[in-house]
Amino acid sequence: MSWRTEANLAWLRALPRVEEGKPLARHTSFNIGGPADFLLETAEPASIHDDAVGRGIPVRVIGAGTNLLVSDAGVEGLVIRDVDRRFRRLEDRVFGGAGLKMMRLARLAADQDLVGLEFAIGIPGTVGGAIYQDAGCWGREVREVLVEVEGGGGRRWKPEDLDLGYRTSAFREGPLRGELISGAWFQLAPGDGAAAREQMARWTAERVRTQPIKSKNCGSVFKNPAGDSAGRLVEAAGLKGAREGAAVISTKHANFIENLGGATAADVRRLVERAQAAVRERFGVELEPEVEELGR
Ligand SMILES: Cc1cc2nc3c(=O)[nH]c(=O)nc-3n(C[C@H](O)[C@H](O)[C@H](O)COP(=O)(O)OP(=O)(O)OC[C@H]3O[C@@H](n4cnc5c(N)ncnc54)[C@H](O)[C@@H]3O)c2cc1C
Repeated sequence: MSWRTEANLAWLRALPRVEEGKPLARHTSFNIGGPADFLLETAEPASIHDDAVGRGIPVRVIGAGTNLLVSDAGVEGLVIRDVDRRFRRLEDRVFGGAGLKMMRLARLAADQDLVGLEFAIGIPGTVGGAIYQDAGCWGREVREVLVEVEGGGGRRWKPEDLDLGYRTSAFREGPLRGELISGAWFQLAPGDGAAAREQMARWTAERVRTQPIKSKNCGSVFKNPAGDSAGRLVEAAGLKGAREGAAVISTKHANFIENLGGATAADVRRLVERAQAAVRERFGVELEPEVEELGR
């Protein structure tokens, strides 16, 4: 039975400040994506999420939209944009609400002379998005500092319950698919906040030099195959600068696809498939997308 019953539509339309049929492009770093049937921005998503699930409405929580390729045909059901930006400190631990940006959390921690999250300056997504796939940067991963994840309805998980690994977790590929992440605690250490801020500034400058992070993109398109780099393989297959519509494989770093303005998800998908085919043919390596497709 379709979820589009009169009662469900009335419930969705009664949600405070809900938007119907609004493009998701403006909520993704790629600036690509068709409309969500219903889009809700909230800092308290838990009960609405659970109610929607209970009503059989397809529901998806997103953060900063920095690892998403949203389909041109949009997303069915309810998309909840989580803007829970709570920050708390308890001794040497910090808590970030799921909608708090990892970069911001790293800066807030440094301001309190707590160190250990500097690597997160390279992750433009939120706490929720970072837990969802164990984001990492500069050789460090979120799981190394993670203490506990909080979900809706008082659920709590320890890192060992989450199957965290290179760009994966039980939320992305396991039994916790569809669970809401409400926030997470991270174990840091007392240290020199000024030195931490300097380190973050150096890392940011290095990324600006080597990656097209100022353009409209989704970060790394492919996961790095064991012992190699996806960018090196795509470049060696001759695809730097390859173009489909308004999407181009970055000439600065071949594991990035840039939206030059007006690119569609179909353009990006064609480029992804071309890069996979070229790398498969040339090197016999299967490139696995790191970016996640969302939608119809
Ligand atoms: C310029 C650039 C550089 C990047 N560099 C890095 C990097 O160095 N390392 C790295 O790991 N990543 C990097 N990324 C990718 C991206 O920032 C990370 O994957 C990040 O963790 C995604 O978080 P988000 O909030 O944007 O999630 P979104 O893209 O909004 O969502 C991603 C997935 O997480 C799920 N999700 C989000 N919030 C919740 C929640 N509260 N509860 C349940 N599920 C949720 C969504 O449903 C979706 O499936 C980069 C991206 C860009 C644009």
